[in-house]
Amino acid sequence: IPPARYDHIAVEERLGAHNYQPLDVVLTRGEGVWVWDVDGNRYLDCLAGYSAVNQGHCHPRIRAALIEQSGRLTLTSRAFRNDQLAPYLEELCALTRSHMVLPMNTGAEAVETAIKAVRKWGHEVKGVPEGAAEIIVCAENFHGRTIAVIGFSTDPETRGGFGPFAPGFRIVPFGDAAALEAAMTRNTVGVLLEPIQGEAGVVIPPPGYLRRVRDLCTRHDVTLILDEIQTGLGRTGRLLAEEHEGIEADVTLVGKALSGGFYPVSAVLSNTAVLGVLRPGQHGSTFGGNPLACAVARAALRVLVEEGMIANAAQLGAYLLAGLRGIAGGRVREARGRGLMLAVELHPEAGGARRWCEALRRAGLLCKDTHGHTIRISPPLVLTRAEADWALDRIAAVLTGP
Ligand code: PLP
Repeated sequence: IPPARYDHIAVEERLGAHNYQPLDVVLTRGEGVWVWDVDGNRYLDCLAGYSAVNQGHCHPRIRAALIEQSGRLTLTSRAFRNDQLAPYLEELCALTRSHMVLPMNTGAEAVETAIKAVRKWGHEVKGVPEGAAEIIVCAENFHGRTIAVIGFSTDPETRGGFGPFAPGFRIVPFGDAAALEAAMTRNTVGVLLEPIQGEAGVVIPPPGYLRRVRDLCTRHDVTLILDEIQTGLGRTGRLLAEEHEGIEADVTLVGKALSGGFYPVSAVLSNTAVLGVLRPGQHGSTFGGNPLACAVARAALRVLVEEGMIANAAQLGAYLLAGLRGIAGGRVREARGRGLMLAVELHPEAGGARRWCEALRRAGLLCKDTHGHTIRISPPLVLTRAEADWALDRIAAVLTGP
């Protein structure tokens, strides 16, 4: 069938489960911040695969690593060792100042892994009775789609109808350190939160919050688990968002951009006390730590650092935010963000963010609505000043237009 006549959307709707409602644009190619649809239209990608494509689409150095490694060795399982894992662990630990890594594939798996590890740590190191461990999480969190994880979601759409859920989680308001402290008990083993809540609509906690959470965790002998799957690896203008408050988590979760979008790669980073409790047979993954993933992640990390993408995210993020604030007014209630993790929240009278994402798409920008009235703007970190101006012109025209 000639590509132009093949109805991708109809076939996808007929055969694919309807667990997403994509914008009706069928993409076929990407390069840097740009993607092209099957009709040849070009768009600036303002989602970057939910921050998995921080390094830009099809980055040639990551691609070269993928191609090279895929011709040598792709998967051994962890039943045997491979020659990519050790250098990957070494480079990742050096970059993130971690002591130990557990390699997984998706973000949700990294979250599940951290939950298992801190529960075991609580039992074996802190002395919490088996089965009594509690983990405190925040309202409006998003940590993935697995059963344990959605069990402590506060979003009815995310959790509704999927129970029963795993016990052992307490939910407190995000940004409220006093509420967090009040929820701590002798059995609290961990606090799990996003430094900036992404899916909730780029919600930035009050200044000093993360530092207070860090202090509380230290004081109460509780592990601080930061889910940096979206905020990490340069997105907020620092390697990790924890750096904005000068703290260090006990357990840090990274994924998404760890592979630059080429391959599912995630990791749990920790001090040895937490991951050190896991022994052979207690956790694993067929694909976790495979040589192809390690080679891709090594290249993705190198590119991120060596090509100055983190500083670029800080600079162009501030520039874009100032520009977005400049078009505030009218339909726009607020523009907010840190680095290139940005959002424009519309007034409810604007009729919902989805229809404005459709309008932005017609203007050449692919953006994603979230929580009804918020448009997220998180392009790849390779965005240039000229591209930012191009985007700002169009966003302003659309959001202030008819
Ligand atoms: N944690 C955060 C903060 C996320 O933003 C996401 C994905 O959007 C996840 C976890 C889940 O990652 P994955 O979709 O790779 O399972």
